Amino acid sequence: MTEKRVFNFSAGPSMLPVPVLEKAAKQMLNYENSGMSVMEMSHRSSSYLDIFEKTKGLLKKVMNIPDDYKIVFIQGGATQQFSMVPLNLLKNGKADYIITGAFSKKAAAEAKKFGEINIAYDGSANNFKHIPTQDELNLDPEASYVHLCANNTIYGTEWKYVPETNGVPVIVDMSSNILSKPVDVSKYGMIYAGAQKNMGIAGLGVAIIKEDLLQKVAPTTPVLLDYKLMIDNDSMYNTPPAYAIYVLGLVLEWIDNLGGLEVMEERNIKKANLLYDYLDRSDFYICHSNKDNRSLMNVTFTTPDKDLDAKFVKESIVAGMTNLKGHRSVGGIRASIYNAMPIEGVEKLIAFMKDFEASNK
Ligand code: PLP
Repeated sequence: MTEKRVFNFSAGPSMLPVPVLEKAAKQMLNYENSGMSVMEMSHRSSSYLDIFEKTKGLLKKVMNIPDDYKIVFIQGGATQQFSMVPLNLLKNGKADYIITGAFSKKAAAEAKKFGEINIAYDGSANNFKHIPTQDELNLDPEASYVHLCANNTIYGTEWKYVPETNGVPVIVDMSSNILSKPVDVSKYGMIYAGAQKNMGIAGLGVAIIKEDLLQKVAPTTPVLLDYKLMIDNDSMYNTPPAYAIYVLGLVLEWIDNLGGLEVMEERNIKKANLLYDYLDRSDFYICHSNKDNRSLMNVTFTTPDKDLDAKFVKESIVAGMTNLKGHRSVGGIRASIYNAMPIEGVEKLIAFMKDFEASNK
């Protein structure tokens, strides 16, 4: 069955590790002699609560989450967090937003509905090739929090440091690089992500929040947008995205069995370096992001012209690789090489790129 699978370079939803898919398939009709699929279980049943607790425990272990942080599983993906963050955390109505790409821009636009938002940096002038240095940030010392996006899925840039904010909590959208490398959770007030890249399947948002940031929200806040209420009900105020939480548990088990996030990082550096080294040697392909800010997860580049970009994408599909078309705002090609992409996929892509370069130069 696996030999029919293609190398899927999609930015998300994206590839899952084969052992995760195999285990889910094996358990599909009858999960551990329960006589039913996880999809069919009551979220209040003891079988499901075991799965839920196991997933939470593994996330805490794999990410080394300190005890004073709470984990919440929420429907609505990362975009829902763009609204929840200001609704819950704008203590004095003011916050800083750092715009390094399309999603941080969307997050800032959403936050503007709820408060006074200072744009501490905006990289749109250079088409988001660059991540700001500490000196380039115009931070407001009175901000309730500083929001940033750790990895810019569309542009292929990634933060390599956590900015110094003088005690103002840093809230980070890690949708496209969570679980790709170890992070020091204690440096953030909150981490959130949509699950459909490194955490499994769409339909689940995960938030990891420092408990002391939680406060009573305005009485008009919709119940499902209230972090405190979600935490007080252990993510079960209503039906949680039960199957997506189960798949996250399988993904975490896979990471843990391989040796954790240090091993993930080693694998990801190896894959990304192969591709970037080839791009740097080539005088045909042009990398979108600046060298210091390159993402380990999303590699963006172009050929010398748009027609060749389109030809590249078309021919790559015939060669057994899918979803290499770049996002419309950058154009060109984007290879998303999340945790589940095996090194063989990257090697195959480079071999294809070499052939394409030789025959189209
Ligand atoms: N943030 C980042 C960095 C993303 O890559 C995405 C989606 O690709 C989102 C937010 C939006 O996520 P969702 O579709 O789960 O709302």
